[in-house]
Amino acid sequence: MKATRNFLSSILILSLFLSCQNNSNTVTLIIDDSAVRAVLKNPELALVKRDSIWQTHEGYRQMLAWHTRQSVPRDFGFYEFALNDMLSDNPIFTKDKNYLETINRVQEIHRDKGGIINEHLSSYLPGNKTFTAYAYFIAFVSSYAFSLEDKLVIDIGSPRWQNNPGFILNTVIHEIYHIGYELYTPDKWGFTPKTKDEFLQKTLAVIQNEGMATYIAYKALEKIPSDYKDPDYKLLENQESVDKAFKQTNQLIQDAETANIDSLNEKAWVIGTLKDRAFYVTGSFIAKTIEENHSKEFLVDLVKKGGRQYVNEYNKIANDKRQIEL
Ligand SMILES: [Zn+2]
Repeated sequence: MKATRNFLSSILILSLFLSCQNNSNTVTLIIDDSAVRAVLKNPELALVKRDSIWQTHEGYRQMLAWHTRQSVPRDFGFYEFALNDMLSDNPIFTKDKNYLETINRVQEIHRDKGGIINEHLSSYLPGNKTFTAYAYFIAFVSSYAFSLEDKLVIDIGSPRWQNNPGFILNTVIHEIYHIGYELYTPDKWGFTPKTKDEFLQKTLAVIQNEGMATYIAYKALEKIPSDYKDPDYKLLENQESVDKAFKQTNQLIQDAETANIDSLNEKAWVIGTLKDRAFYVTGSFIAKTIEENHSKEFLVDLVKKGGRQYVNEYNKIANDKRQIEL
C-alpha cells in the first residue's frame, strides 16, 4: 500500500515537473467556412441576398465592423464583380479557380496536422494557457486577412493566396501566434504615438510582435510545407534585403528625434508594415539570430519581457551593420 502510494506520488511529481518544464499552451483553432460555402455554392442568390449574408454570417459581420473601425467606407464592389464574373459565360477573374476545393484542402490539412500546429505554436509561447482562435473564411472583400482579438478573417477569393491552401494555413499560423503572444507580452502597440518615446516603445513592440509571428510561421514550413511562400520569407532569406530593413528601421528611429510625429507615424506605417515590411524583416531576423545564438527557451522567455528587452538582447550578439541603434 505504502509502495503504491509512493509510486503514485512519484508519478504526480513527475507530471508536475514535466508540465513545468514544457510549454503546454493549448490552442484550439476553429475554422468556420459556412459563409464562403453559402456564397460560392449559389452566387446568384448571394448577389440578391447580399445584405442579409453580410449581416448574418460572422465573417462578413466582422468585415463590416472592420470598415467601421478603419473608417473605410463599405465597399461591395469586389464582391459583386467576382460573383458576376462567376456567373458569366466567359469568366475572367474566377476562371479555373476552385475556391471550394481550396477551402476543403485547408480543412483537410488542419484535420491532419492540427496537433502539430498546436505543438509548434505552444513551443514558442511561454507558460501554459489555453485559448481558442476562430478563423472565418469569406470571399471577395476589401482586406485579404485581418484579425481582432481571438477572431481571424480570411478572404479565400483574394489573388494574394494564389489559391494555395498551404499558404493560407501558414498565414493562419502567423495570426494565431499574435493571439497567443498578446496573452504574455507586457507591451502595448494598438495606439497612435503622440511623442518620440511612445513612438520608440511602439516600434520595438511591433518589431517583436510581427517579428516573432513571422518567424514562427516561417519555421512552421519545416513541419507543414507549402509550395508557395509568403513574400516576407524571401526578404528574410536575402542578405541585402535584411541589411536594407535594418537601415530603414534605424532611419525611422533616428527621424524620431526631429520629425513631426504625424508624418513619422505615416512613414513608419508605410516602410515598417505596408510596403517595405522593414519591421517584419528586422523582427524575424532578430528572432532567428537569438534562437540560433542562445536557445529557443531564451527567445520564448523574452516574450514576457517585451520589445525593448528583445532588441537589447539581440544587440549584444548582432554585428555592427545589423544593430538596432537605440
Ligand atoms: Zn502579423
